[in-house]
Amino acid sequence: MTWRFALIVAPVPADDPRTDFADTLAVIDPDAPALSVGELSTQRGDGIFETIGVVDGHPQEVQAHLERLAHSARLCDLPAPNLAQWRAAVERAAVECPAGESAIKLILSRGVERVATGLEGPTAWVTAAPAADMSVARTEGIKVVTLDRGLDSGAATRAPWLLLGAKTLSYAVNMAALREAHRRDAHDAIFVTSDGYVLEAPTASVILRRGDTFITPEPNGGILHGTTQLSVFDWLEENGHSTGYEHVPAAALGTADAMWLVSSVRLAAPVTLLDGRELPVDRELTAAMNAYLLSPRD
Ligand code: PLP
Repeated sequence: MTWRFALIVAPVPADDPRTDFADTLAVIDPDAPALSVGELSTQRGDGIFETIGVVDGHPQEVQAHLERLAHSARLCDLPAPNLAQWRAAVERAAVECPAGESAIKLILSRGVERVATGLEGPTAWVTAAPAADMSVARTEGIKVVTLDRGLDSGAATRAPWLLLGAKTLSYAVNMAALREAHRRDAHDAIFVTSDGYVLEAPTASVILRRGDTFITPEPNGGILHGTTQLSVFDWLEENGHSTGYEHVPAAALGTADAMWLVSSVRLAAPVTLLDGRELPVDRELTAAMNAYLLSPRD
């Protein structure tokens, strides 16, 4: 990926009343070194992030992403982000996005290790880059395998320090799961709990179709609440379908009438093969879903 644009955010408190944040956003050379060697995000993955899809310069579902950033900050005991400031940073980055699809990434780190530097407070930055071409996954679909997440359905409540509902920078496990999926000749994975319930994909939410009802695993702390899934559910409801959040047994994956992995940049990828078994693909509905997801959404 070629970074097109980057800016460093000097975070202000959530209740800072200013409306002009220009002097807190410093545009930097995206190819030049910018982080301290004491940065805790790089040393420990101690921070949070969001990835926002951008279509023809329009950043999608910004409010939902900012709310999830605030939620992740709460779970990680990070200072509450000033959402107006982050919105200003997103708008500044969006100006740099060319026609077509891009991705804006927001990163909020715990900061620089104090022992070494004496510095305090979080560090934050925003990047923008063109998105990879996702058209094959959207139209031809993806092969998926289920992978044991190694945690049961009660883990999020029993052990909140696992930060399971936060979008943290510690994505090494998610990336390892994708590599395992590739080793098994699949494009992606769906995590299931050790007691046999569906969670999410390493970088996407799962939506199943059962008749005319669309189901996703309830985001009860163990998984992220996907902004794309929320948007797709609104669209499905507007189009006369019913939707629901359920505790989905892994066995339900095999009997689904259709299945998608949905996320902010790849959008809706229909699942064609699950653990080697073919799944029906509704091409027309998938195309309509992706057309909606590519339209400007706020
Ligand atoms: N679940 C995980 C673990 C993710 O990393 C992501 C996105 O990266 C999602 C779900 C989907 O979220 P969104 O639709 O907001 O991109």
